[in-house]
Amino acid sequence: MGIVVQKFGGTSVATVENIRRATGWTIEEKKRGNDVVVTVSAMGKTTDELVQLASEIGGKANEREMDLLLSTGEQITVALFTMALKEQGFDAIGLTGWQAGIVTEPVHGRARIEAIQSDRITEELAKDKIVVVAGFQGISNDGEITTLGRGGSDTTAVALAATLKATRCDIFTDVTGVFTADPRYIRQARQLSAISYDEMLELAHLGANVLHPRAVEFAKNDRIPLVVRSSMENKTGTYIEEVVSVEKNLIVRGVAFEKDITRIQVYGLPNEIHCLSSIFSLLAESHINVDIIIQSTTEANPSSVSFSIQTEDLESTVQLLERNKEDIQYEHLEWESGLAKVSIVGSGMISNPGVAAKMFSTLSQEGIFIKMVSTSEIKISVVVDEKHMVKASELLHQAFELERVSQPTY
Ligand code: ADP
Ligand code: ASP
Ligand code: MG
Repeated sequence: MGIVVQKFGGTSVATVENIRRATGWTIEEKKRGNDVVVTVSAMGKTTDELVQLASEIGGKANEREMDLLLSTGEQITVALFTMALKEQGFDAIGLTGWQAGIVTEPVHGRARIEAIQSDRITEELAKDKIVVVAGFQGISNDGEITTLGRGGSDTTAVALAATLKATRCDIFTDVTGVFTADPRYIRQARQLSAISYDEMLELAHLGANVLHPRAVEFAKNDRIPLVVRSSMENKTGTYIEEVVSVEKNLIVRGVAFEKDITRIQVYGLPNEIHCLSSIFSLLAESHINVDIIIQSTTEANPSSVSFSIQTEDLESTVQLLERNKEDIQYEHLEWESGLAKVSIVGSGMISNPGVAAKMFSTLSQEGIFIKMVSTSEIKISVVVDEKHMVKASELLHQAFELERVSQPTY
């Protein structure tokens, strides 16, 4: 028998009753003879509520204290989950991220896990205890509490699974698995029985928040068998694994979407070699995440560049560019918010030409204007008006026949 890591998300531990139900899955795994390490998220909407409290006090800019505050959410669940296990006669111990040896880079709000010093967990497992670890948090080498970014408990779970060489990592959540699109928005979405690490990584990066992108990166690097499944119902989940056979004629495996996108346009740039690097280095130094970049240059004219960012970064991006206008030497800036990114993902695209053409014609036939495009081997993204986001996703879901995906057998 081996080690199994389980993770329970916010909805799955939202109430005392839900916590009790969740411990049922842990006890079942323990009774099978496995060592079990559990990672939990904050209860229900606790993290959102803590963020709201910080806003009310005007403290969101205090990154260090934000981490101190947000890390308390997971700590509550760890204590209650451990108590519930003990109350049912199972020996268990709850650990904060730092007690569990989760070491991150010294960054607040979106730290990456650098290492897990797992001696304490291993010692407790050797005493036959179930170990419950707070998700989403760690400690930097300078002793500061850090958090891993929203949705980061998935990453804690998979990083633990990788370090402990677990045989499996089960992500228990409020849907029965990974669907062809977010089932809360797209009625026709179908559950996938399996999806490859690469496809899941793209979907997660492109807005399918059922898994934190870094969790998928860890799983892919260490080939951790990952299962997304329901904490409420006993149903077969979705397996995320190395290679998944493509269903006949299905080129696309999923549609993902993300709102709150802003496009920035920088006009009248000198045709100088270092011009782009100076803009994007500035943004990178300020940790502003730039997504799609489109440059247009002709030799005779000044060039322009447009790029997309998260709308929450608009103010800091504009301030930064305006402060450095003389150095960059551009003429003027324009921006447009209220945009969304809609993407299709599938490894079948590599060997099938015409996928982009089909995507563009599907949207144009319905009068949906495409403002930006970006592609990789296995995905195509378009930026459209936010009001078209769900409609565009439904149209693409239909055009690429995703409702034909065969359902897992229960
Ligand atoms: P947890 O709190 O368990 O981590 P999340 O809210 O982070 O749960 O993730 C689960 C949610 O992800 C679902 O409720 C669903 O709305 C959303 N989601 C987005 N895209 C997908 C997808 N392709 N398949 C399944 N769920 C998705
Ligand atoms: N509680 C954190 C959040 O709401 C982390 C997580 O749930 O994964 O983002
Ligand atoms: Mg989540």
